[in-house]
Amino acid sequence: MQKLADIKQNFPEWYLNVIEASELAENSPTPGCIVIRPYGYAIWENIQKVLDKQIKETGTQNAYFPLLIPESFIKREAKHVEGFSPELAVVTYAGGKKLEEPLVVRPTSETMIYHMFSKWIKSWRDLPLKINQWANVMRWEMRTRPFLRTREFLWQEGHTAHDSLKEAEDFAIKMQQLYKKFLEEYMAIPTIDGEKSESERFAGADHTYTFEGMMQDGKALQMGTSHVLAQSFSKAFEIFYQDKDGNIKTPHCTSWGITTRTIGAMIMVHGDQNGLIIPPKIAPIAVVIIPIFKNDEDKIKVFGIAEKLYKSLKDKNISVELDENETKTPGAKFYHWEVRGVPLRIEIGPKDVEKNQVVIVNRVEQDRDKKKEFISFEAADFKIEEMLVKIHAQMLDRARTNMQSMHHEGNKLEEFGPKLEKENGFYQTGWCGKEECEAALKTYKATIRCLLKEKTQPNCFKCNDSSKTDIIVAKAY
Ligand SMILES: [Zn+2]
Repeated sequence: MQKLADIKQNFPEWYLNVIEASELAENSPTPGCIVIRPYGYAIWENIQKVLDKQIKETGTQNAYFPLLIPESFIKREAKHVEGFSPELAVVTYAGGKKLEEPLVVRPTSETMIYHMFSKWIKSWRDLPLKINQWANVMRWEMRTRPFLRTREFLWQEGHTAHDSLKEAEDFAIKMQQLYKKFLEEYMAIPTIDGEKSESERFAGADHTYTFEGMMQDGKALQMGTSHVLAQSFSKAFEIFYQDKDGNIKTPHCTSWGITTRTIGAMIMVHGDQNGLIIPPKIAPIAVVIIPIFKNDEDKIKVFGIAEKLYKSLKDKNISVELDENETKTPGAKFYHWEVRGVPLRIEIGPKDVEKNQVVIVNRVEQDRDKKKEFISFEAADFKIEEMLVKIHAQMLDRARTNMQSMHHEGNKLEEFGPKLEKENGFYQTGWCGKEECEAALKTYKATIRCLLKEKTQPNCFKCNDSSKTDIIVAKAY
């Protein structure tokens, strides 16, 4: 058994230990790229299943575009190339020959997709056009960390074109809210939503909407983004259509995405000293049944009950595993499933069979021995279903409490800056909107995570001019 680093003393090391011990992922021989192992990939598949359905319900269709993009495409939108140039991986040789035009491994697919949109959009009848792609992308990051920042990662990228700017803006916000709701309802992760400042915006966007989660160490993690691209790409890629009155117009576009980073967030928001805790709705295994016996006679009795329960949970569509391993002690099995974050453990021993009961242990309620619950076998499947709902609520509640406990009001930077250096968290303050004031945060290794809609502070945290809106300042992953 591998001992995990102390979650309070060494959170970054704990994070890496948990990923290794739970077999979610592993470093690969390709620098900066990870191998997502079956247990980790099963979580991503569950995320995909739910999100894919929700994305399609917005009228968006899935499609697939090439991994390699002609270099000239990337250069067509000025801000886009400026923003992405340092991170591009470029193919210059193929088939044993130098290519006439280098091909860029996609860092994102705006350029390819809007090129195709220019062929597909000819009339107002073709709008809105909503396309999504599930794919891998590559950004040559210098400092990588599994799930949070790797050179290759998995995501979905949605791209839409609309007749009016208003419609595009509404749709970008709709997607931001869809993601926010998904994170709460399926991953038990609360977020603060708002807009990015100009310096933090996506390269080529007019507005970037974000939703920021707080990790247990008080640092922020950008969970995903939704951009109003307006006409930057549609002009660069010459998308023209005829409106109802016969006028030639250029559409307004959006793009939005969420990545495998959400798995990193899940680890950092919910995990504890014993390992992962996976929210029941996306857990590859929501319930594990552990039969406990010493001899063959007991084994038959215990397995009789265990298999019955296994089947009735399967029938209820609950992802359940019956641990039939006979080489491990019960204690080793408890550890095995605990570090993997299975939310609910059922123990069945010979005494339980006699009493017609099973033992339930909730992964969120820590104390291994004190928190055992005994329930009658007849009520077990119903009760387990109920407990999974309860566990989700407990996880969300715990994450919210943590977030609130590290949400501070900030006034002047000279006051909250030094505090922020020592104590992570979200610092809510006012901002005039000037970039020079924003840049002052660098001294404390912090950034503006998002602009809020509310205004509680009259003045800017730096220059004292009148504040335009409240902001959240934090250190971030
Ligand atoms: Zn200012």
